[in-house]
Amino acid sequence: MYRTHTCGELNISDVGEEVTLAGWVHKSRDLGGMTFIDLRDRYGKTQLVFNMESNPELCREARELGREFVISVTGMVAERSNKNLSIKTGEIEINVQKFGILNRSELPPFTIENDTDGGDELRMKYRYLDLRREPVRNNLIHRHNMAREVRLYLDSQGFIEVETPVLIKSTPEGARDFVVPSRIHSGEFYALPQSPQTFKQLLMVSGFDRYFQIVKCFRDEDLRADRQPEFTQIDCEMSFVEQEDVLNTFEGLAKHLFKVVKKMEPEGQFIRMPYIDAMEYYGTDKPDLRFGMKICRLTEAVKGKGFPVFDSAEYTGAIVVPGAASMTRKDVDQLTEWVKRPQIGAGGLVYLRDPEKFAPLWVIDFPLFEWDEESGRFYAMHHPFTSPKKEDIPLMKTDPGSVRANAYDLVINGVEIGGGSIRIHDRELQKLMFSTLGFTEEEAEKQFGFLLNAFRYGAPPHGGVAFGFDRWVSLFAGSETIRDFIAFPKNNSGRDVMIDTPASISEDQLKELSIKLVK
Ligand code: ASP
Repeated sequence: MYRTHTCGELNISDVGEEVTLAGWVHKSRDLGGMTFIDLRDRYGKTQLVFNMESNPELCREARELGREFVISVTGMVAERSNKNLSIKTGEIEINVQKFGILNRSELPPFTIENDTDGGDELRMKYRYLDLRREPVRNNLIHRHNMAREVRLYLDSQGFIEVETPVLIKSTPEGARDFVVPSRIHSGEFYALPQSPQTFKQLLMVSGFDRYFQIVKCFRDEDLRADRQPEFTQIDCEMSFVEQEDVLNTFEGLAKHLFKVVKKMEPEGQFIRMPYIDAMEYYGTDKPDLRFGMKICRLTEAVKGKGFPVFDSAEYTGAIVVPGAASMTRKDVDQLTEWVKRPQIGAGGLVYLRDPEKFAPLWVIDFPLFEWDEESGRFYAMHHPFTSPKKEDIPLMKTDPGSVRANAYDLVINGVEIGGGSIRIHDRELQKLMFSTLGFTEEEAEKQFGFLLNAFRYGAPPHGGVAFGFDRWVSLFAGSETIRDFIAFPKNNSGRDVMIDTPASISEDQLKELSIKLVK
């Protein structure tokens, strides 16, 4: 038997018991007459003691154990004289009677400590060692806990998790597709899903009523700090719902996560803020409501008063700072100096991070289309399956730019956590949508014939949402780096430096795929 207990569970009540533990040699200290080793596993660390007086041979062998050796030890649990109350096992130690080396280890390229000496690149190359570090492991446990709670909650609401395919056909969701060449169908390609959008809609046509999936999605986009080419969504869809039904259902999910993960109970209903208000008062469709400070439009009030700066400005606005009007000149100067302190290093404007405060809201009534100057055409702001507001449908032909969508985003602290829409379920409206987006009838048929066809067979009204799981997990952990919450992430240039990919493939493989590389 390798172990009777883990390295994180023995305490004062186990004193006198004979136990066997297995794990990694975290650290060893040689104090002449005694050798101490911290043995580590996923559950914690336990101190081992080897005594030169009572068992010199064993003690000498123990001194040969290097960092990260894997060993199994048997000994007696004893009360420590020098207790460490900051860890769970800190009141006891094991007087080792025998041990065996299960595997040796080379000296790791960086220390396996909470504050390691390893830089980013090195830790990513040896990610399996990085994952031995407690903070990194805790991030993944936190992710696991959130995934479990998502499943528990959605299951309790009658949602069924259904897997959808990974090898699909291009879907136009705004980003570039990753494509996979087909060997059997030479010259043809699969695409990896940017999201399971059309499949979840088809599941509604199939009568599944409530679907969800914690699912990998792939987008070949230019990389930014908190983006990964593959990422995870909590993808959901419901039938026989209107916008408010969807918002209430997933507000329930958000509140459940706040409660079990953050031990917080946000009061009342989340604010629903129309897109135009978000833009007008916060200058963004992802407002951070933690700080107040609305933008106040002053254009009309200050124009034509003989001040050239205001006269020539298309828009003049100001941020409202509560209480600032009654501040003296001295107060304002002091505040300005405070903001400019070297610790903050700002020239005058500053954002303060306030991680334990959360301000969730729904931004609603997004425009259905956005105009692209460069290509001179409209694009779907969300995606082409989003339904227009009923009263705006007549505008689709005359003034597409002012059509509002039944589309919504969940925003928490200025971060877009998710978004969705009520879908089009009427074949004719879907066709009108495609044609407004500039698709010819043949193109629409070729790309989306399957969906248009499905709409011939009794598609129920439906709508849904998808949340960026990696982002939500990192937000709740008070971090902005989603990479820290992914077991094996890609780096800033989309590479996995551990397995060293993307990589070239052999001539034979290329030939099988009928692919010729252009140098
Ligand atoms: N498929 C959409 C997305 O990935 C979400 C949705 O509309 O449900 O953004």
